Amino acid sequence: MTTRQRSELEAAIERATEHGIEVVGHGHRKRDGAKIYCTTSHSEANRWHIVALVGNRLTCDCHSRKLCSHRAAVHMYLVVQLAERAARAEEIECELEIETRDRSESE
Ligand SMILES: [Zn+2]
Repeated sequence: MTTRQRSELEAAIERATEHGIEVVGHGHRKRDGAKIYCTTSHSEANRWHIVALVGNRLTCDCHSRKLCSHRAAVHMYLVVQLAERAARAEEIECELEIETRDRSESE
């Protein structure tokens, strides 16, 4: 990722945060099974934008030509999900280590 791409992503994340854009739903597209995420819209009340994850690429149904705040919001959502999953895996590993230690101490 180049410096320009990084700053464009950072700017999009800032807009998403500033406008309170959040992921409010997710599921799968019937046609190809792609994961889809619904985000709120800043410009229209009661409107969701659909962001699809195809391969490693996020696409949005809005008309923005630059990296939009909806894609940035989904990116942040995915980063947080990964971090939560990693933390959970660590907790499980910890529990397994305790179990193993307790068993070896009782032998
Ligand atoms: Zn968008």
